[in-house]
Formats: sequence, structure tokens, C-alpha cells
Amino acid sequence: MRPIVVTHCGVGSIAEVQDVAGRSGRAGMQQLRRGGSALDAAIAAVVVLEDDPRTNAGTGSRMRLDGSIQMDAAVMDSRRRVGAVAAISNVKNPILVARKVMDTPHLLLTGEWATRFARRHGFPFYDPATDRARERWHNTLTELAKKKLPAWAKAWRTYSGSDTVGAVARDGKGRFVAANSTGGVSYMLPGRVGDSPIVGAGLYAGPMGAVAATGVGEEIVRLVLCKFVYDQIEDLGVRGACDAGLKLFPKSVPIGLIAVAKDGAAEADNREMAWWTTAAHVRKRRV
Ligand code: ASP
Repeated sequence: MRPIVVTHCGVGSIAEVQDVAGRSGRAGMQQLRRGGSALDAAIAAVVVLEDDPRTNAGTGSRMRLDGSIQMDAAVMDSRRRVGAVAAISNVKNPILVARKVMDTPHLLLTGEWATRFARRHGFPFYDPATDRARERWHNTLTELAKKKLPAWAKAWRTYSGSDTVGAVARDGKGRFVAANSTGGVSYMLPGRVGDSPIVGAGLYAGPMGAVAATGVGEEIVRLVLCKFVYDQIEDLGVRGACDAGLKLFPKSVPIGLIAVAKDGAAEADNREMAWWTTAAHVRKRRV
């Protein structure tokens, strides 16, 4: 099977970050050309996305309402092996910690225990805060002061793109992997976990393909979006499955999807989204 990588910089992300979507995708493809697996490729792609300070993952992650940074990341492969971390702090690459979790009997580690697990596995202290993240945080607090919104309840109405990142990959042996990493959304309480590290919601992989989602986590979890899309792949093909997933949501809810399957790759979104793929014949699709 021809290798494929698809990457994205989050629904609502703009053309200015298109270069990192491409760079990360090429890093994934390089792994595949060197004989690496779909797992190696998806992880390599997400590391590049996390390391770019313009994305909301790893370095540059958004701050919570209290000014803290807690990140979520996950990876799942077609053997349904899963590694995930939620609300992890002070690591450079949450996706690499998630990859380590994959080698344990567990699927998901949270909060300070995820951070302790990272330290035990040699991930040093790292402060992912950037000036841009601080500025975004100040803007959030100003907005809140003006509108007096309950922070969590109205998140998506003011959602302007979160620059969460994701990748899906297919290797020559027909193995599929999905991987996500995020600092979350604006107006976030400390401890909030979105869809990105939740199997079936923010990502899913199995023998039929791999799917990764971006958008308002609370809405994605409610509809278990990526498992829904995965389940449609056999009947509708990867393109039709992504379109069907996107149609579950009203336009007011920003959603983006990327997927790979035996019949190729697909992308679907209802906002601008920087994304990249090696697969031929993938049309930009907006509903
Ligand atoms: N899904 C992410 C979250 O809710 C945000 C995003 O994709 O932009 O944490």
C-alpha cells in the first residue's frame, strides 16, 4: 500500500501556519521512506507541530483561565493500541509521553501523575509558555470581563481557531495511526479535558483506517465523532465518511477532520484550516 501522511494545524488555523503543516507532513513521510512505521510517521509529524510556537500544542499551548498550561495528547494504531495523556504540564512534547503510555498496560494518564510518569521516563522540565500564549490569555480575560460569560458554557461562540494539531498516517504494510496534541481551547477551566486524548471522540484507528478530529472538544465527545466516521468508512469510503461526520454538526460548531483508509485520504472542515497531505486527489472540502 502506498504510504500517506495527512497533518493539520487545527480548525480555524490560517494559511500563515500552512508551512508547518507541510514540514510536519514531510517529517512523517521521511520516516516512512526510511522504513519506519505509520506510528513513527504520525509521532514525528506531531513533534514538528508541537515544536512550532505558532501552534497550540507543546510549545505555544494555550493557557487556562488561571494562567496554567495543561496539555492533552494521544496516539492510536490499527491494532487499537492507545497511549494518551491529559492535562499534563511542563513537558516539551506531550505526544512522546503519550507514545510511552502506549507501552504500559494503561491507555490514559492524567494531570500531575502524567507529568510524574514523564519525569520517570526521562522527560525533563520544560516551560511551553510563549509571549503569544500570554497575550491570548490576557485577551481571554479581557473578553470575559466584558461579556461576563460563564467561561466553559459559551466557548465555541467565541472560538476563533485553536491551532490544535493532528496527524494520520498509513504505511506500506497497510497500518494506520492517528495522533493528536493540544493545549485546549480558550475559556478553559484548569482540569478541563477535551476530545483530543479521548478514544473514539478526538481520534480513532483500527484495521479500516485512522481518523483525527479538531474543533470544540465538548461537542466532539458528545457525538463520539471519530468512531462515527471510522464506522462509516467501509460503506461510504474515507471521503464520504468524513463528510458524514462533518454533517453531524451545525455550522456554529467549528469542526475539522482528517482520515486515511485503504481507499486513500480525506479532509473535511467547516472553517479555514491549514492542512497538508501526500495523498493524490484529496480535494479541499468545506460544508
Ligand atoms: N479539540 C480541541 C479541544 O477541544 C481544540 C481544537 O481542536 O481546536 O481541546
